[in-house]
Amino acid sequence: MHCTRLIGFYLGVTMKIHQVYTQSALDNFTYVIELKDGSAIAIDPWDDAITNRLLKDNGLSLKAIINTHEHWDHTRGNEALVAAHQCEVWAHKNGEGKIPGMTRALTAGETIELAPAVVMTVMDTPGHTFAHLCFLITTGGEPEAVFTGDTLFNAGVGNCHNGGSPEALYQTVRAQFHTLSDAVIVYPGHDYLENNLRFTLHLEPSNTVATQWLGRVAGNDPGQLQTLTTIGDERSINAFFRLGSEEIRQNLALDNANDEATFLALRKRRNDW
Ligand SMILES: [Zn+2]
Repeated sequence: MHCTRLIGFYLGVTMKIHQVYTQSALDNFTYVIELKDGSAIAIDPWDDAITNRLLKDNGLSLKAIINTHEHWDHTRGNEALVAAHQCEVWAHKNGEGKIPGMTRALTAGETIELAPAVVMTVMDTPGHTFAHLCFLITTGGEPEAVFTGDTLFNAGVGNCHNGGSPEALYQTVRAQFHTLSDAVIVYPGHDYLENNLRFTLHLEPSNTVATQWLGRVAGNDPGQLQTLTTIGDERSINAFFRLGSEEIRQNLALDNANDEATFLALRKRRNDW
């Protein structure tokens, strides 16, 4: 029995994003972007069964898979979906040879039109790995949502254990995510929100906004209630966005450190936590 649940989010009036909590041990999310012409793009398909069921339930044909990066839990649905749909597979050029079925390398700044006035812009976001892309959706020129894979999570950031670099991740977050407008909704590759909030509060117990968030999400079944943050929320609840917090720095014994050193110390603390 599948326990997949769907939530459709309208962007503008012409398309839907389906977020599927996969119930995998790693709490992966798979996304299906539903286009107006009845075709769809799947992002990070955990497996073919979940994706095919969603496609069938919504009468969609799969035109392409996008993998945010090369890790197996983000690509394991590729082969069976390609066999069933003959769809394309788009990913970072450094994923060639690692990403099953890859047909097209996407590059930073490239745009994919999803609907009239709804555009997805490719972001090259090294850090979690060096084959990692994120995707910013703008509607009528206004940034609305970002698919962040394992670069940025709701209230946290990805680890750098498997082919990544915390220094590169710091630069990516600073240059490409801090600069996004507050209203942008964050669609991550995993549901780690509750644990990430606990991490923020472990270093910044006085953070009342994070405390309120934790009260809302603690113990929720993520299949029932998929809580998402915005970039504006991240500025309040994500320790990796709060490098100037005196409380965080004191708890890291880093009173005089710069932002990068604080970020690196946070990443290390999160690894050991
Ligand atoms: Zn990963």
